[in-house]
Amino acid sequence: PELLKVNKIDKFYDNFQAVKNASFALKRGEIGCLLGPSGCGKTTLLRTIAGFEDIASGSISITGKQVAGSKTVPPEKRSIGMVFQDYALFPHLTVKENIAFGINSLAKKEQENRVEELLQTVELPAEGDKFPHELSGGQQQRVALARALAPEPKLLLMDEPFSNLDVALRETLSTEIRKILKGRSITALMVTHNQNEAFAMADKVGILFDGTMQQWDTPHAVYHHP
Ligand code: ADP
Ligand code: ADP
Repeated sequence: PELLKVNKIDKFYDNFQAVKNASFALKRGEIGCLLGPSGCGKTTLLRTIAGFEDIASGSISITGKQVAGSKTVPPEKRSIGMVFQDYALFPHLTVKENIAFGINSLAKKEQENRVEELLQTVELPAEGDKFPHELSGGQQQRVALARALAPEPKLLLMDEPFSNLDVALRETLSTEIRKILKGRSITALMVTHNQNEAFAMADKVGILFDGTMQQWDTPHAVYHHP
């Protein structure tokens, strides 16, 4: 069964069609990467899955449950975690508070345990009491990942998560994040315009062009049949 299923979706901004009849699916634990030039609709597609944009037709299901289409589930009920290019951490909260932000409903002790565990996972065990501005870009993005993972989402959406980082760091961090996601069987969909990154990270690569999904297949298949 598919964890994420996107079925023939269309998305318009007024009269402009940003996504055209796009279909693809991810199984549990798979990592998908959306590749394509600027303006081809990658972010829009991610935002329709997150529920920040409505769709004109088609449907989206997460863990077999329809979240967009004839039925609409609001973003906060879609069990999705998000990581953005600009980290989007809360500047006035510490690292620990940032990570705990989405799990305030849990008991205090459980929150603390989960935050500690995630700090270990993203290899920032000693940075918990610092503020975002005291961290490097790569460290901030690790915190953003930990924050996104804290509520244990079914699906992680990442929009150009490494764009603000230098080349060496993007490679290290993409390898690390892949390992973390695989270790936890987390399903993820990542937008990038970096082909090497997509091919290194992904189980499935989607090639978007002008709002149309040209290909959705394994990196091997996409590489050999461009
Ligand atoms: P990408 O992420 O691949 O760079 P986007 O999804 O951001 O592409 O944008 C796809 C197309 O939709 C672009 O032509 C962009 O100008 C247009 N677009 C994006 N957001 C809006 C919006 N809020 N209103 C109108 N057009 C938009
Ligand atoms: P673009 O495709 O050019 O990045 P978007 O309109 O898709 O433009 O998003 C602009 C930025 O707004 C994103 O990069 C993200 O950091 C931020 N953003 C959008 N939605 C949210 C949200 N719900 N929560 C936090 N930040 C958001």
